[in-house]
Amino acid sequence: MQKRQQIRIDGIVQGVGFRPFVYRLAKSLQLTGSVLNSNTGVLIEVEGAGENLAHFQNRLRQEMPPLAQILEISNREIPVKNDERFVILQSEHKGESSALISPDMSLCEDCLNELLSPADRRFRYAFLNCTNCGPRFTIISGIPYDRAKTSMKDFPMCDSCRKEYHDPTDRRFHAQPNACPVCGPQIQIYDREHRRVNTADPIKHTVTLLRSGRILAIRGLGGFHLVVDAKNAQAVELLRERKNRAEKPFALMAANADVVEKYCKITHREREALQQQTRPILLLQARPNTNLPKSIAPKSKYFGFMLPYLPIQHLLFYEDFQVLVMTSANITDEPIVINTEKAFEHLSGLADYFVVHNREILQRCDDSIAIIVAGQQRILRRSRGYVPAPVILKNETKACILAVGAELKNTVALSTGKRVMLSQHIGDLDNPEALKFFKESIDHLQTLLEIKPQHIACDKHPEYLSSKWAYEQFLMPKIEVQHHHAHLASVMAENENPRKTIGIILDGTGYGADGNIWGGEILVGDLKSVARYAWFEPLPLPGGEAAIKEPWRMGISYLRNAFGSAMLTLDLPIIHNIQPAEMTLLQQMLEKDINSPLTSGCGRLFDAVSAILDICPRITYEAQAAIELEMMVKTAIQRNQAYPVRMEQNSGVISFVPLLREVVNDKTQNVPNEQIAARFHVTLAEILISLAISARKDTGISQVGLSGGVFQNFTLFKYMVDRLRAEGFQVLTHAKVPPNDGGISLGQIAVANAQLQ
Ligand code: ZN
Ligand code: ZN
Ligand code: FE
Repeated sequence: MQKRQQIRIDGIVQGVGFRPFVYRLAKSLQLTGSVLNSNTGVLIEVEGAGENLAHFQNRLRQEMPPLAQILEISNREIPVKNDERFVILQSEHKGESSALISPDMSLCEDCLNELLSPADRRFRYAFLNCTNCGPRFTIISGIPYDRAKTSMKDFPMCDSCRKEYHDPTDRRFHAQPNACPVCGPQIQIYDREHRRVNTADPIKHTVTLLRSGRILAIRGLGGFHLVVDAKNAQAVELLRERKNRAEKPFALMAANADVVEKYCKITHREREALQQQTRPILLLQARPNTNLPKSIAPKSKYFGFMLPYLPIQHLLFYEDFQVLVMTSANITDEPIVINTEKAFEHLSGLADYFVVHNREILQRCDDSIAIIVAGQQRILRRSRGYVPAPVILKNETKACILAVGAELKNTVALSTGKRVMLSQHIGDLDNPEALKFFKESIDHLQTLLEIKPQHIACDKHPEYLSSKWAYEQFLMPKIEVQHHHAHLASVMAENENPRKTIGIILDGTGYGADGNIWGGEILVGDLKSVARYAWFEPLPLPGGEAAIKEPWRMGISYLRNAFGSAMLTLDLPIIHNIQPAEMTLLQQMLEKDINSPLTSGCGRLFDAVSAILDICPRITYEAQAAIELEMMVKTAIQRNQAYPVRMEQNSGVISFVPLLREVVNDKTQNVPNEQIAARFHVTLAEILISLAISARKDTGISQVGLSGGVFQNFTLFKYMVDRLRAEGFQVLTHAKVPPNDGGISLGQIAVANAQLQ
């Protein structure tokens, strides 16, 4: 029996070789009909024997091209038309387009083979790609996605490339960035005086420069990297010196997963994660005593490794290297540099040479960062390889909402229907470049989705630059979302679970509903509203912002709270090492309440303990004290390591005085920091778990959501997930969006949407 079906597919199905795939599949099953790109995705009509139609449906999902992502598929039976063939039809361009664009993906196997085959016309050509790989998001200025709206518009295709482009049986059929050495972009090298270096083979020359210990600024996909030979300790040191980056770990790129395994213990799962086409920087357990210089990741138990994703990177490794340091090229705290002129202007003090190309980067995009922990990949920075793929909500948003995120690690987001389009990592907004990037990202999301938001969601914090921007948009209604409510909503939204939840939100800082700084919060509620069930005892943060950079100040604040003036008699390095004048000044600030706002931030508790243990009294990068405290914990933590403290909770306020006293007692008795740090982690976790249990008793809710920047502490995170599950909780955790403020924009959308309903 002949039947005909119309199949509508929404998702990432354009520019990824979907139509030729459908064409081949239909032919192989003797089906007739057509396929075309529609304004939302792809529209297929197939006709043939009923069982072949069923095979077609199944194989569509199972065998689709690697970059395709199906979000929604619908089909209905329509009258038979008795076509003779299966054809690819011209695109349908009417109305607004909501077709999705693929993120940038690493070079595919087929292209890699061509890159390394001397007989191929693209042998050693650094800009080859096909419908299964290559740049997408970073080269587009608008939609619909075709060459005229990409930075490839400056490179008219040669005859050979054009032939591939128009041939439905070719891997490069409608591959918008298609290029070859005859018609495509090229690489050039410049020295720090911006003089062009004469070389017949820029790749070989780049290898020579790296081998001689030079620091190179290499223009990549979403911006510039600073690159040095990772085995050259002097070069790594020099990079630290010039970048003025004392201790924050550098990212590494290795030739392949086997090389990574020499430096890190990797599981099968992690090996796969390294090789996935999104190519994130993956945090992996470093092996002790490798031959990599200590200065790459001092005091960290992780190395952040990624595998090559661009042709030029493959070529560098093919020629010589095993491991390269590959860190974003930016001026301190500013976004990654994308433009060659800007690189000359700003990176000349950092790089010895510039390896540039002439394909413009239209969207800035950092490397993404991920880790595999508690059985899942967790994205910690969501950028290249993931953006602009949407996050899907359980329910449709009724209105189109723009969320402008927080202040640090900012991302913005735009919703339409069930989809939330999150921007790439924008970064800390406190400099003009970043703020410009923030505004551009908002414009670009609107261009990509061809929609104008009807509402703006922003943080309650009146001083966040994102909130201030929101308030300048006079014509649009604003919805203010409390920071930690947004964190909870974020983890609920990405799990498509809007049911009432107990939120354990462990964060650095966020503006509280009462105007104080919050950040150690047990919340109970849903997307619409939450109540504060319990919170860390608010303590003064002497010096405000300055105290975040100098954790010893918070150490004193916590000690004073636990010991009063007897604090000065404690036999602790933090007491001995502070200059008497500094100590007096700090005490006066605390006593007279000068510039000492109250904070319940969990990050500040970690700062305090890190400083009291003399691990990190002053920081050189964000959250360093907390990270180094965690790094002290060398092996998996056990429940029986907890200090015998009773939970002290007074009408919601959680006191850490008993815990602090135990920590101080251990320290004065010279218990090693490794042990104290482990016991601190377990005790804190157990206190929080006991609160979750009492919240469950009080409310009958047995679902817990974990969010907030502190959950990038995977010692704490993994322990809490395991223990909460053992206690019978259903635990919602972040995987697709970061637990830190990078996930706030998603939460803001979820809350705003719930409040609008
Ligand atoms: Zn390819
Ligand atoms: Zn060509
Ligand atoms: Fe936060």
